Amino acid sequence: MKVKGLFNRKKPVVSFEIFPPKLDTPLESIYDTLDQFKALNPDFISVTYGAGGSQKDRTIEIASKIKDEYGVESMAHFTCVGHSKEEIDSMLDSMHDNALENILALRGDPPKDQPDFDFTKNVYRYASELIQHIRSKNNFCVAAAAYVEGHVDCRRLKDDMLHLKEKVDVGVDFLVTQLFFDNRLFYDFLDKAATLGINCPVTPGIMPIFKADQIKRITSLCGASLPAKLVIMMDKYGGNDEDMRKAGIEYASMQIKDLVDNGVDGIHLLTMNRPKSSREILQNTGLL
Ligand SMILES: Cc1cc2nc3c(=O)[nH]c(=O)nc-3n(C[C@H](O)[C@H](O)[C@H](O)COP(=O)(O)OP(=O)(O)OC[C@H]3O[C@@H](n4cnc5c(N)ncnc54)[C@H](O)[C@@H]3O)c2cc1C
Repeated sequence: MKVKGLFNRKKPVVSFEIFPPKLDTPLESIYDTLDQFKALNPDFISVTYGAGGSQKDRTIEIASKIKDEYGVESMAHFTCVGHSKEEIDSMLDSMHDNALENILALRGDPPKDQPDFDFTKNVYRYASELIQHIRSKNNFCVAAAAYVEGHVDCRRLKDDMLHLKEKVDVGVDFLVTQLFFDNRLFYDFLDKAATLGINCPVTPGIMPIFKADQIKRITSLCGASLPAKLVIMMDKYGGNDEDMRKAGIEYASMQIKDLVDNGVDGIHLLTMNRPKSSREILQNTGLL
């Protein structure tokens, strides 16, 4: 099933993001986690793509399993950075052969050891070019990434919004946002998007904070800002893992409740492969 149809049928569409186990860990280690996620009845589950394609086969294998064996719709993330044209087509063919219908099409970040990676040498310089290629080739439902606070590489927020509009115009069915911690930024983003004529559904990415250090690292990479309230919370609870987890769940629940009250299209929970905490959040917010 193509996920885009879900947005016409229900509000909010509740989805989870999971990541494949590391290559030195058996793939089967994710099955128990998937059992628990299935019990939470998500509308779909997306599976991330390891930086530079490091776990590409696992993304497809897990997304197929979620769909075929767990009976939950899935979406495979795909980044084209560093891939040859043949590799890109082979990945798309493999998704198609595995009956995957939904793809989150991304450009990707520069390889870790090449911070100055020259994207002009990439097969596709921007996600919009990859999306155009996918559109010309397969009949996938295509999602793309959106950045509520602007993408870190783009110097002007206005330009980033215009690039987003270009991306949507080449054939995006819905958008999934980068994580953010201040809902006002999301509502502001939606207003700007509407002004530009971006009319597709936008599902906000929400990440519960489980560890203070981890969130500082993640936000330093993706550029999401930390509201003062959250910094105070991390200072207060950061020294104790369980207290931090509970406070993180409370914050994410509060964010989600407010988003749902404001009629958002979806909630995309960045689960960090933690079904227990995801369950608590859904229970707190009435989404289970
Ligand atoms: C929801 C979500 C899921 C993600 N999942 C993964 C994952 O599974 N694996 C992974 O490795 N990474 C993932 N990422 C991270 C993503 O790969 C990086 O943020 C990457 O740097 C940008 O990818 P993009 O598809 O958004 O790129 P693009 O949309 O191509 O944008 C990249 C930059 O180029 C600029 N730009 C776009 N078009 C133009 C133009 N015409 N002229 C000039 N500049 C332009 C944009 O403003 C932006 O600064 C995810 C991000 C999000 C938000």
